[in-house]
Amino acid sequence: MLEWLIIGGGIHGTYLSNLLLHGAGVPPEKLRVLDPHKTPLTAWRRRARACGMPYLRSPATHNIDLHILAVHRFARTAAGRPYADFIPPYFRPSAALFDRHCDHVIQNRGLDAVRIQSQALDIRETAEGLSVHTPAGPVAARRVALAVGPTDHLCWPAWAASIRREGAPVHHVFDPVFRRRTMPEFPETVILGGGITAVQLAIALAAAGSGRITLISRHPLRVNNLDFDPCWIGPKCLGAYVETPYTHRREIVDRARHRGTVPEETAARFNRLAAAGRVQYRVAEVRKASWSSGCIRLGTDDGACSADRIILATGFGPERPGGLLTERMVAGLGLEIAACGYPVLDAAYRWHPRIFVTGALAELRGGPSARNIVGARNAGREILKAVA
Ligand SMILES: Cc1cc2nc3c(=O)[nH]c(=O)nc-3n(C[C@H](O)[C@H](O)[C@H](O)COP(=O)(O)OP(=O)(O)OC[C@H]3O[C@@H](n4cnc5c(N)ncnc54)[C@H](O)[C@@H]3O)c2cc1C
Repeated sequence: MLEWLIIGGGIHGTYLSNLLLHGAGVPPEKLRVLDPHKTPLTAWRRRARACGMPYLRSPATHNIDLHILAVHRFARTAAGRPYADFIPPYFRPSAALFDRHCDHVIQNRGLDAVRIQSQALDIRETAEGLSVHTPAGPVAARRVALAVGPTDHLCWPAWAASIRREGAPVHHVFDPVFRRRTMPEFPETVILGGGITAVQLAIALAAAGSGRITLISRHPLRVNNLDFDPCWIGPKCLGAYVETPYTHRREIVDRARHRGTVPEETAARFNRLAAAGRVQYRVAEVRKASWSSGCIRLGTDDGACSADRIILATGFGPERPGGLLTERMVAGLGLEIAACGYPVLDAAYRWHPRIFVTGALAELRGGPSARNIVGARNAGREILKAVA
């Protein structure tokens, strides 16, 4: 029987596997990471590539190795030096450097070798521990960590879903089948969204000379370097948060996350392109849309406009991460949830005596930074304390 089965091999699951193997001394044969993708971090890399993310929003100290300075150290080695690229403020690594460092960690720490390529469908209690159901059969483990990432539900405005059903070329940038680099060229593309993903995508398409690019956002660009106040990384804000009743925590998290914001340098780059006429920018709300003769007509509260294609950069819906798996777990194991449907966890990120949670699903314990890279480090520290 496994000591640990980690469900989800993205940023959170991969970091936790590294921590348990090399920080807690769990033998490699006693730990597995279950994920449908062949290689670690596939979903993360796909999303970063889809929007053309050149730099991370977080500092290099937020990384998947055990030491906070691991990316800085890697950047000084022969393998890392060609990718050494940081921008201010607080040493944000380029996506290329971060990815190379992840490859280096995965290879050197043997994190590839502990993966099972499959999907968890349900979890049941057994006399000795837990049984995780997968299409290939059950996997037995004493403990399970859920690291299933953000929700699968993408945010689709009703008008966009409606014209798509009629055959209009409307895509969501986080749709697993979306491929920015191999998309056919269209004379007129409208990107919808007001946050970092939308702005980065507009910059990437404009830089590639992909026809006329218009960004439509409900609000003017809002500049913020991080997607939450850094006080949420440590006890300064988290101290009071973990004392707050679970009933209030959803509202606190939603208020504290800087949704729809962009870091300074991204805003500056976009503004330069807009001033040079290489991207158009409209602050408007789309009210309706129609599709006929190969042309999309948009009715906004600031007048009409047309497009040959629309790309949504409207993020994820509010649904609980983990889809059917978490639904079945709540019903089958009687696990406690808050009004928003998210897990009620103890101080050690435990949802059940044998089941731990990290990532977006742990937001009501980890706070506004729970779904970010630093949230993986915070959750890992508490999980380790509980099982050491
Ligand atoms: C474009 C973008 C840029 C971001 N940039 C930053 C940044 O700069 N800094 C930062 O700190 N954060 C950033 N984030 C936020 C966050 O770090 C990422 O969303 C990160 O990918 C979250 O890691 P994760 O492991 O929770 O989820 P994921 O990376 O999505 O991994 C979850 C994995 O679990 C698997 N899974 C799900 N269900 C099951 C199941 N039932 N069985 C088996 N496997 C399952 C999925 O297939 C996936 O492989 C960014 C997010 C996005 C979208």
